[in-house]
Order: sequence, then C-alpha cells, then structure tokens
Amino acid sequence: MHTVADVASAQTRLLDFKRHGLRVGFVPTMGFLHEGHLSLMRLARARCDHLVASIYVNPLQFGPNEDLDQYPRDLERDTALCESVGVDTLFVPPDLYDGDHSTTVRVQELTDGLCGASRPGHFDGVTTVVARLFGIVQPDVAVFGEKDYQQLAVIRRMVRDLCLPIEIVGGPLVRDVDGLALSSRNKYLNASDRSRALTLFAALQAIANSGSPSVSERLAIARPIVQADSVDYLSIVHPSSLKPLETIDGPARALVAAHVGSTRLIDNIGL
Ligand code: AMP
Repeated sequence: MHTVADVASAQTRLLDFKRHGLRVGFVPTMGFLHEGHLSLMRLARARCDHLVASIYVNPLQFGPNEDLDQYPRDLERDTALCESVGVDTLFVPPDLYDGDHSTTVRVQELTDGLCGASRPGHFDGVTTVVARLFGIVQPDVAVFGEKDYQQLAVIRRMVRDLCLPIEIVGGPLVRDVDGLALSSRNKYLNASDRSRALTLFAALQAIANSGSPSVSERLAIARPIVQADSVDYLSIVHPSSLKPLETIDGPARALVAAHVGSTRLIDNIGL
C-alpha cells in the first residue's frame, strides 16, 4: 500500500493507473475506521483492479457548533486496517482545498429534509468534497454506505445530474453485535448513553415489524421507544425520492436522527 498526502501527486499517480487500463475503485472516509468502512473497502476491492481509500475530516460538512475539533482520529491504526483489506493507495490530504476555493456543488430538494433540515449546509459540504475527491481519484466505481442513507441518495443524484462516469455502489449498514449501527462517533458514548443509543434501532425495528399500512400508526408505535435527549426526525420516506409517505404500499425507508448526550446518531432500516 502506498500512502499519498499531496493532491497533485495523488491525481498524477492514479491517472497513470487508469491510462494503463486499470479499473480504479474508491472509498472515501473521515477515518477512525470500523467494520462498516472495511466492509465497503471489501466490496470495492472485488469490483476494481486498484483500490483507493481516502481519510479526510472535511470541515465543509460540519456546522459551526458541531464536533469537527473533537472528531476522533487514529491514522496509524487506520493505515494498518486499510492495508489489511487490500487498499492499494491511501490518500490522506492534510488540506484538500486551495485558499481561494470558490465552488460549491449543491444537490437541491433531496437535501431539503431529514439531515438536510437539521444540519443546514451539511450536504453542500459533502457533495463539494466528494466532487473534488472524484476529480482527484477519477474512480470507475465508488462505494458509499447505506448507514448514511440520504448521503448515498444525494451522491447518486449528483453523479447522474453531472454525467460523471462513475458507478456508485451502496454497501449495507453494518451493526455491532448489540444492534447499534457502527459509527466513528460511538466512541463518544459511555455505557448509559450506549443503551439509550440502542433505542434508535429498537424503534426502527418496531416500525419494520408493524404490519400497519399507516405511516402515522407505525410512527406512533415507535416514538415512545426512543430514549434520546432530542430527536431531529423519525420518518418513513420513499426509498429514492426521500419524500415522506402517508401509506406503505411498496418499498419504503424508515430513518431516525437523535442526540444522545452530546452525540448525534443516525440509523435507518428498509421496509
Ligand atoms: P464516514 O467516515 O463516517 O464519513 O463514513 C465513510 C463511509 O462509510 C460512508 O459511505 C458511510 O456511509 C460508510 N459507513 C459509516 N458507517 C457505516 C456502517 N455502520 N455500515 C456501513 N457503512 C458505513
């Protein structure tokens, strides 16, 4: 595995692999890797000749009162984990933007609800960094997790709207043995936070197990289960438009975002 920190060197190196006909796969991350990230790297590994992973905590996608400064980091451990799943190039830029960076990539509508409503500007930060990373890496295939379900939908839409020649693959959400969705932010949780965090998944399971076609009935069953300090949303939406549903008569997705202590957690389940 080769580690590159510099934008221009990464782009030159990867373009060279592409010129030699290699299919480049890409998994962007913010590091502090866990089995969720590694599962995406394994999926990408099986779909490409040269696997690139990136670790970059992107300031653009954090709000002013969010956890940018505390976001957990462990580059040494992450490097070993990337190597263990067969990453060929690890891209770890200390900075990604030029001082006079002036471009924002914005996907409209899909970003209005859910996390877009509770984290203004978040998805602009995500699409801007992913577009820039795509320009540097020029992947043939990129893998994103269903853990960040709205993010995956937004990136699919960006790639379609901008005609980027990149196949986007969604990887299933990976959970801990107790059911908690794996997240780098789980590191912030103490034991009592963690048991409250588990109620997010319990609420989603209650929604999935209810046979009612009525969205309001399913949400009424689930709401009292969530033991969080505040709930940003608990919603049932269409799986691709992300528009709220009233009746479940086809595929749907239930999603939740809530704060437990100072930690914001998200989870979702297919219906
Ligand atoms: P992050 O480092 O949190 O920005 O996540 C990088 C990628 O890993 C994103 O595509 C996430 O959706 C994905 N990811 C994070 N946690 C999980 C998980 N528990 N299961 C599957 N994918 C995940």
